[in-house]
Amino acid sequence: MNKVSLGCLLLLGAIGCASDSDTLSYDDFRKQAHFDQETGTYIVNGDELVENEAAMRDMYDRYLATMGKVSDAEAGLFTAEQGLIVNRVGTADDKWSATTAVNLNYCINKASFGTRYTTLVNAMNSAAAAWEATARVNFIHQSTKDTACSTTTAGTVFNIRLVSGQPYLARAFFPSTTRSGREILVDSTSFGVISPWTLTGILRHELGHTIGFRHEHTRPESRTCFENNLWRALTTYDSASVMHYPQCNGTQTGDLVLTARDKSGARLLYP
Ligand SMILES: [Zn+2]
Repeated sequence: MNKVSLGCLLLLGAIGCASDSDTLSYDDFRKQAHFDQETGTYIVNGDELVENEAAMRDMYDRYLATMGKVSDAEAGLFTAEQGLIVNRVGTADDKWSATTAVNLNYCINKASFGTRYTTLVNAMNSAAAAWEATARVNFIHQSTKDTACSTTTAGTVFNIRLVSGQPYLARAFFPSTTRSGREILVDSTSFGVISPWTLTGILRHELGHTIGFRHEHTRPESRTCFENNLWRALTTYDSASVMHYPQCNGTQTGDLVLTARDKSGARLLYP
């Protein structure tokens, strides 16, 4: 989830705010991402990970390839009625296998959270329960691994650690991300005053990414914050989706919670 409250400032989301401008150069495209010195990775679309320079190049190539479709959407030619959307890699849905989906083992780097550890554990349990109550997914906290929890911890699908000074409240990954990039990073500001959101709400959104869901506001109906067209619709457009940034013409005004369409879309992907 991104801290910025104005849609057009949302990093790569800015592409969608300039529909009548020329196609971005690679340099300009890259400048809209946040470079994380510590991991050598990029953060795009507010809270999504791009693992390295090659992946950024690849994303740019796909951005170029989809520009034509963007114009169609802006011109009102995009007629497909499509809520919740799943990320695509090539022509396949970016999702977990049925077996892995119910064994999403994770650990929490206890030392990084310090006195906030229990708060994070409880928020994760609540956020995971929301998805688990509707789709065939199961997030399993392997607490015995929390004292040595990193991207190399055996038997974990992902890990969670605290960071500070980042431009986001938290960021996540997609199922197709390699294990070294499969971290949920929670910025310390997420433990401060973020009303009307809560830490649990932020994690509900991030967990949506971890099981394949994209930002709902990349759909043409939001009229702003476009990212790219590499997704497949699961439900009709949902401006209140837990995956829709409120600042991008979203209509969810309270904490980030799953809507009826979020639930039905998740069930479609993980029946
Ligand atoms: Zn997000």
